[in-house]
Amino acid sequence: MPELLEAELYAEALLPSIGERIERIVIADPRTVRGCRESLEAVAGSTVAGVGRIGKVVVLHAGDVEVALRFGMTGRLSVDGVSPIERLEYEAARGSPDWDRMTMLIGGQSVTLVDQRCLGSVEASPDLSGLGPNADWVGVDELRGRLERTRRAIKAALLDQSVVAGLGNLLVDEILFEAAISPTRQSIDVASHALGRLHEAIDAVITTQRRRGGSHAGPLFPHRTAGALCPQCGGPITKTRVAGRTTWYCTSHQR
Ligand SMILES: [Zn+2]
Repeated sequence: MPELLEAELYAEALLPSIGERIERIVIADPRTVRGCRESLEAVAGSTVAGVGRIGKVVVLHAGDVEVALRFGMTGRLSVDGVSPIERLEYEAARGSPDWDRMTMLIGGQSVTLVDQRCLGSVEASPDLSGLGPNADWVGVDELRGRLERTRRAIKAALLDQSVVAGLGNLLVDEILFEAAISPTRQSIDVASHALGRLHEAIDAVITTQRRRGGSHAGPLFPHRTAGALCPQCGGPITKTRVAGRTTWYCTSHQR
């Protein structure tokens, strides 16, 4: 679940690290390292020059090397044992110390990647050139150009990080709900006939849910359950699968 809103919170939690020295990197689970482990370990000793975010990826600038933190389905960042997010939607309720996959000691604080399913990663010098523009600032013309290239379902296109970066399963369902667009409608058709609505919904949903605290804070979310009725029009909320992901939508007002 960590989508751009959660990645944003993780990046904010790292801001106090700027100007501090990375004293040590402890890799508790080698599966969490993507790319070259030696390059990652060589980052120890350098100073954090900045923190950024591209889509769902948090980027730590360590000296002249970038370190990418990805959070998969259940990854959280905790600083001295405190996470900006208590619990993620797809994570089990009871935590475990075994979920601590990697820790960086930065300026006396421990920054840990906590990840139940271990689908997140840490990588030195990542190639992020394949990521599309951030979903929270993509322009309407650029969005059109990216969506009209494909006949895939609109939901599949929006989940594809090379099309736009930062959206995951929950935000895409909320955006399509808000825009009154069926998740299975062809991307190219949305680009021609419903683009303005979609672009506005991306902006509105991100802005509102940022204020409300995350990807799970949308109006559709409490109704992701069998037999639920649409909070907007009273129609049936239906479950389907799009792009391999569980998808909930209103068959009455989402066309
Ligand atoms: Zn509805």
